[in-house]
Amino acid sequence: MAILEALLGAAGFECHRADRGGVANLFARWGKKGANRSFGFNGHVDVVPVGDLAAWTQDPFGAAVVDGWMFGRGATDMKSGVAAFAAAAVDFVQDTPPDGAVILTITGDEEGPSVDGTVALLDWMARNGERMTACLVGEPTCPKTLGDMMKIGRRGSLTAWITAYGVQGHSAYPHRARNPMSALVRLLAALEAEPLDQGTAHFDASTLAITTIDCGNPATNVIPAKGNATVNIRFNDCHSGASLTAWLQEKADAVALETGVRFDLRVSVSGESFLTPPGVFTDLVAKAVQAETGVMPEASTSGGTSDARFVKDHCPVVEFGLVGQTMHQVDERVEVAQIVRLKAIYTRILQDYFA
Ligand SMILES: [Zn+2]
Repeated sequence: MAILEALLGAAGFECHRADRGGVANLFARWGKKGANRSFGFNGHVDVVPVGDLAAWTQDPFGAAVVDGWMFGRGATDMKSGVAAFAAAAVDFVQDTPPDGAVILTITGDEEGPSVDGTVALLDWMARNGERMTACLVGEPTCPKTLGDMMKIGRRGSLTAWITAYGVQGHSAYPHRARNPMSALVRLLAALEAEPLDQGTAHFDASTLAITTIDCGNPATNVIPAKGNATVNIRFNDCHSGASLTAWLQEKADAVALETGVRFDLRVSVSGESFLTPPGVFTDLVAKAVQAETGVMPEASTSGGTSDARFVKDHCPVVEFGLVGQTMHQVDERVEVAQIVRLKAIYTRILQDYFA
């Protein structure tokens, strides 16, 4: 973050730290505040843990280059993306000063709880009258070759913690007990019984995964009083966090009525689904990618969540970046030549946006 601040400051960017809750966040703007055309880049410099250090063939924080590949935690996700858009922004405003503003929002909390990261930056921007009119998130988006995929939206994610309360008893006399595990199994089966939807124009079908079923009962002859399960739902634009919460509650109520077991639901929505509808901005990004790589990127909404889920409330947002094959893995690495090509793509996006 200090390197970026020094680099961008020297290039004429106005830099502000929007740190919050111990997280470092950097806002940098070249050009006038509130300009009608204010193009933004968003990215993160925090990384996931190294994992099995002994399995790495290179120092995960050494940035060693071997046969044209740079090794390191964050090499693809996403320090190289940040480097590429910072370099593109610096050269662009120097070579062809645009009529407008170029804004960089860089956070240190994307891989973590994401509470004091991009959200804090957007809060800071709102308080200080700063805005972006379009934003590109530089996450790695390409599955195989540079240029093959951009993201124009993301599915939402909801986690539900379900607790079933029954009546404890002797397993030889189940009629005197009320088994919460039986009710839980019935409820989970009901949740999985039918697909949530068939997918939509821009989204795959929503999915529901049972991620854990727990009871912790060490006795084989005791029906437990309580059981827990967790489900995670990745949902498209057929649903919202609220509609799915209501659906879960309805299913739980039905099983509770049949079994007499009471259910408690605790739900957390880490992001709603969103879509930047294909149009001028998505076309601009796609054409710039095609011009530089010869590949027309697929406009996808697949994968996990990203900070684009916060940016979408601020302005139209598209994600495009490196090939992400080794992200979060041991020996995460990036082909150095690809960073240079990514910079060229970002530069062309800037040129076309301000043309
Ligand atoms: Zn990332």
